[in-house]
Amino acid sequence: MSHATPVSDHSLWWDTVGVVPEWDRFDCDISADVCVVGGGFSGLTAALKLVESGASVVVLEAKEPGYAASGRNAGFVVPNIAKVDPDGMQYLLGKEKGTRLAHAISRGGEGVFGTARRLGIDCDAVETGWIQPAAYPGMLDTVHARFEQWKSLGRPVEWLDRVEIAKVIGCERFVGGWIDRSGGGIHPLKYLFGLGLAVRDLGGSVYSETPATGFQHSDGKWRVKTSRGEVLAETLLICTNISTGQLDVSAGASLMPALIYQMATKPLGKADSERLTPGRQPVSDVQNDVFTFRIDADNRLITGGMPVFPWDDGPGMGTRMARRLASELNLNEVPQVEKLWTGVAAVTTDFLPGIRQIGPGAFSGVACNARGIASTHVLGNDLAALALKGDPARDLTAIPVREIAAAPFRRVAPLATRSWLWWGRRRDRILARNTKIEIGNCRHVE
Ligand SMILES: Cc1cc2nc3c(=O)[nH]c(=O)nc-3n(C[C@H](O)[C@H](O)[C@H](O)COP(=O)(O)OP(=O)(O)OC[C@H]3O[C@@H](n4cnc5c(N)ncnc54)[C@H](O)[C@@H]3O)c2cc1C
Repeated sequence: MSHATPVSDHSLWWDTVGVVPEWDRFDCDISADVCVVGGGFSGLTAALKLVESGASVVVLEAKEPGYAASGRNAGFVVPNIAKVDPDGMQYLLGKEKGTRLAHAISRGGEGVFGTARRLGIDCDAVETGWIQPAAYPGMLDTVHARFEQWKSLGRPVEWLDRVEIAKVIGCERFVGGWIDRSGGGIHPLKYLFGLGLAVRDLGGSVYSETPATGFQHSDGKWRVKTSRGEVLAETLLICTNISTGQLDVSAGASLMPALIYQMATKPLGKADSERLTPGRQPVSDVQNDVFTFRIDADNRLITGGMPVFPWDDGPGMGTRMARRLASELNLNEVPQVEKLWTGVAAVTTDFLPGIRQIGPGAFSGVACNARGIASTHVLGNDLAALALKGDPARDLTAIPVREIAAAPFRRVAPLATRSWLWWGRRRDRILARNTKIEIGNCRHVE
């Protein structure tokens, strides 16, 4: 049986979202209190907060809302940051700002689910937590240290020993781990469309197919240019994620692109779908070549991966990920790939989110780092607070307004990422050999 499913332009979420809204058409100059550039989670979360506060808001989206990372992710709602724990945030930002950021990010999942509930967005929300297991005994210390850090902030986290983790994941593959009960999963595009429609219901405009091509500040206002006219606004928020460098060169210089493949299998059979994560929590481990999975509302396994060799790119990544799912989760056969797609994550040089002031009343923000659903909730609200109150010196935000260091070797970042991952896979294999864990032979939990 062939598993060589081609890479699709659109994610699974576009196939399963139902009705795609007709967004507004931009055809003449307009003015508003705030112009938001970018129709992803960051831009639409900011726009929502602004219209709810009574501001007039225009959102400019180059393609259509959800075209980029917000419509291509895996839907894991993870209330932390992949590479930096609270002590790292304190180290990088100082005790007060680091602690404030950690608290805010840790509440990001509750913010997303709360927003969905408040607005009545049906986004297949699963609010049963997010799990981080250790695949090998040699990784237990790392995972336990993470658990302790988030626990010390008073988060709803629990340590799960080998038996308990086997029960929640439904497989004896993992040796222990922790769960943050405030995480979970969503259908990202349903959530995003819900945000955009709420912005419109409250009087905002969301323009698709309207790339901003530049901006300038004159007579106390921002003029944002598009090919079909200008937006004149008091305040400007740039929420363009990996494309930020096209509009804000300094912010863009701190962003490195990371190409990620996502894959969805055909729906699982009854036995596997009942066995694996009966609580439907997303799972992300800490292998160097990280293993992630969740089960969507139609019982498909969703997983992700990054390519190393040039021949990994393309349909081969789908086959690779399907085989990995089968061996890591002890499936009876390699699952069939239903959909394979890619997205580009924006990674900052210090792995933290950041806001940059561009000029008076103009800010750009990024919170991606491949775990951005919870953190863009924080970013969007912080950007809105700046737009409403204006003065970053007043310490309005949990995500600090700062210059993030530029990436010195941006052009070779993709090559560096692949080399790092290649080395990481070797280290994973050494760990596996040393601990004599045979992947693919984990027994089912009855
Ligand atoms: C493959 C992949 C998987 C991921 N999985 C997860 C996950 O499971 N969980 C998680 O928490 N995070 C995940 N992330 C990260 C998460 O998706 C992002 O952090 C989040 O979507 C970023 O939202 P955003 O609004 O900042 O950016 P985006 O969603 O990228 O939105 C930016 C928007 O700006 C628009 N734009 C760009 N330039 C212009 C312009 N000049 N004018 C107008 N509009 C413009 C783009 O078209 C785009 O729609 C993943 C990311 C990727 C790529």
